[in-house]
Formats: sequence, structure tokens, C-alpha cells
Amino acid sequence: MTETINPSQKISASVDKLWEEEIEFLQTIARFPSTIEYEGSLQLYLKNFFQNELQMDVETVDVDEKEISSLPGYSPSEWSYAGRPVVVAKAPGSSRDSGGKSLLFQGHVDVVSPEPKHKWSVDPWGAHRIGDRMYGRGVLDMKSGVAAMIYAYKAIQDAGYEPSADFSIKTVIEEEATGNGTLAAANAGHLADAVLIPEPFGQCPSTAQLGSIWLRIHIDTSSNLKSDQTGVGANAIEKAQSVIEALQSYREYVNRDEQKPPEFAHMTEPIDVEVGTMHSGDFASNIPVEATLEVRSAIYPGKDPAEGKQDLIDWILDKTKDDEWLREYPPSFESFGFHAEGMVMPEEDPLFAKLDEAHEMVTGKQCGRQAIPVTTDARYYGLYYNTPVTCYGPSGAKMHEPDEWVDLESIKNVTKVYADFLIRWCGIHKKEGES
Ligand SMILES: [Zn+2]
Repeated sequence: MTETINPSQKISASVDKLWEEEIEFLQTIARFPSTIEYEGSLQLYLKNFFQNELQMDVETVDVDEKEISSLPGYSPSEWSYAGRPVVVAKAPGSSRDSGGKSLLFQGHVDVVSPEPKHKWSVDPWGAHRIGDRMYGRGVLDMKSGVAAMIYAYKAIQDAGYEPSADFSIKTVIEEEATGNGTLAAANAGHLADAVLIPEPFGQCPSTAQLGSIWLRIHIDTSSNLKSDQTGVGANAIEKAQSVIEALQSYREYVNRDEQKPPEFAHMTEPIDVEVGTMHSGDFASNIPVEATLEVRSAIYPGKDPAEGKQDLIDWILDKTKDDEWLREYPPSFESFGFHAEGMVMPEEDPLFAKLDEAHEMVTGKQCGRQAIPVTTDARYYGLYYNTPVTCYGPSGAKMHEPDEWVDLESIKNVTKVYADFLIRWCGIHKKEGES
């Protein structure tokens, strides 16, 4: 009797069979509190999983700032890189003449802070499954995608197949602040003919993304504190208010229609300019003499991050010069963290056509394209390593907010699309000894 079930159907059934295990795997990795600088124990767990459960060849790459600090795409970091390597797991293609091309699935394991934790209705590290959702810090961004890319490969293995071309999985650190993990691993030569990143922006491949810059702004009023009878001097918090107003007017300016490139023209406010932290003062009856603001601004593709920072600095200095005091004692600026360019990916790359086919096979629907108003590690591949790349992943809500959640059904669909895409891109064949 001839076989009536094709490999793609077998592998889809394998995803279904592994589904509860995949959810448990997601819960396990989501319970690691892997905020930036604390990714090490999760990376070790994943390294062992790749070696022992998936029989992959595993290498680790430690980020060496000396090696990468002169490369394009480097962002100045303030975290130690000891004990938190990038993990690269490889399955060498066993029939390279098959015509398949090499493929890399990549996800970040760092997550943003869960604070304020008391605003959560569940434990942010509990990975609670409630109905068709899972709640927890990082379950959406992006441990669900990490689980999907790993279980796509596991489903192929379990169905008795293996990729014909080189396939690898990379889990990276510090995506949420610099991207230096990806840069270090790419610089070490861990590349492929195409890269898929399961960032959780839904099942619609991204073709454009914004860049991101961080600035620390210092206001120091100590030199001007009056010691007259009133004791009233320049108050650093009040002066910070002028700087915040300048940031708000900058946000209005960069989101004017004439500033928007075509990829982002349909969005009302693609460029987010936000004060993320503010520190000042320590006693109600003391005049604060120092204030520090940490600010994040998006930038459009094509803008050099250094230029983006300078634009922002010039804007702040210009808009605060009406304040006599700030004119004399302007704020100072410090660059740290994100120094990231935006990117546009050519849609005609075969990566998109193959991903479309896989999406259609699994969902029965055609998928569109999207520009995402955020920064992802995709930029390294597209801009500096001439490698086609896109983000396509699960959906949910409250990313970077309390009560972050992911839609479980979307993870299953993404896992199936990833597996189907892998079949189409790398080619697959029966493992030795499998009938
Ligand atoms: Zn992310």
C-alpha cells in the first residue's frame, strides 16, 4: 500500500501529539526569572535540553565587548557578561546536495522587569495557565516563540525526519537592552541562509522595524543652590519638568506625517519617546540637586543612531533654553544601551514566499506583511550580515506590562508553521533506520 500521509501532515500530527509537553516546556522556561544579567541559568537549562533531548551539537558564545565594540550594531552595555553566554545548537544537514538551504531559528531569553509586581493578578514567574491563555513575565515576549521554534524541530524529529540542510537554533541574551548577544554570535560566524525570529507580533511576517536609542539625562543644580535665608534654589525635579516637556514636543515633531517613511505612514504615532526612569530627591524638606532621567526613543529606518541621539540632544537644549537657569547649566547626556538602527527587508526574498506557503498550509489563509514599531535583533542579519530575516510569532497582549499573556492556540499554530517552513526551506528526509 502506498503512503497516503505526507511528511507535512505527519509532522503537524507530531506537533499535536507533543502539545501538552510543549506547554509544560514553556512553563518551565517561563519560571526562570531571566531578566537582563540573569539569563545564565536558563541558558544552561536550554544547552542541556538541546544536547540531551534533541541530540544537537551545542556551542556557547560569550560576549566579549572588546571584540564587538567596534562593529556596527554594537550598543554600550552596563552589564557583566560573565556566565550568560549565547547558546547555539546545530543539526548539520546530512544530505547537503538536496538543494535545501541552511536555516536559523533565533529567540531571546531575557525578559523585562516584572515590576511593579503587586500590580499583577498572578505571580509573574508562575506561568499560570488559565483557559486558553498563559500568564507571566516573558510568556509572550518571547518564551512562547522560543518554545515554538524548539518544538517545531522536536516534532520533525519525533515524526522520524531530519533537516537535509544545516539547521540551527540560537537562544540569545540582552535583546531588550542592546542586542549584543546576537552581535557576538553572528560575529563568531553562527549564521545561515535565512533567519526566523518568533517575536510575538502575530502570524504576519515583518518587513520593516524601527530602531531604538537610549539616553541618560543628568540635571545637576548643586552649583546654584542658594544659601540665602529662604533656602530656595534651583530644584532639580522642577528643571527635569522642562526636559520632559521638550521630550513630549520632540515626540509630536517626529510623528508628524511629513517625517514618516512610507512603511510607517499608516501609523498615528510610530515613534515612541518615553521617559523610562526618573531618579531624584531623598527627603521631603531637602531641595533635590540632582535628577537623572533614562529615556528611550524609536528612530526610523535609515537613521544613524548617533545622529538620532544628536537630534534629540539638540532638541532638548533648544527647547529648554527659555529657562534662564537651564540655559546657563544645561543638562548633560550619556549614551548607554540601545544604539540600534531600524531596518526594511526586501519582500521579494524567497524567505517570504516560503513562509507564506507554510502559513497558508497550516491556517488555510493568506498572510499579509507588517511593519512593526519596535526594535528586534533581526536588524543584525538584515543590515550587517546580508541575511534575509523576518519576525513571525504567537499573539497575546500586555507585553512589558503587568498581566502579560499569550494565546496558547497561536503558539500551536506558529509551531506548525515553523515546522512546515523548515521542511520547505531546508528539505527533510527520513532519519536512518526509520521506515
Ligand atoms: Zn522580544
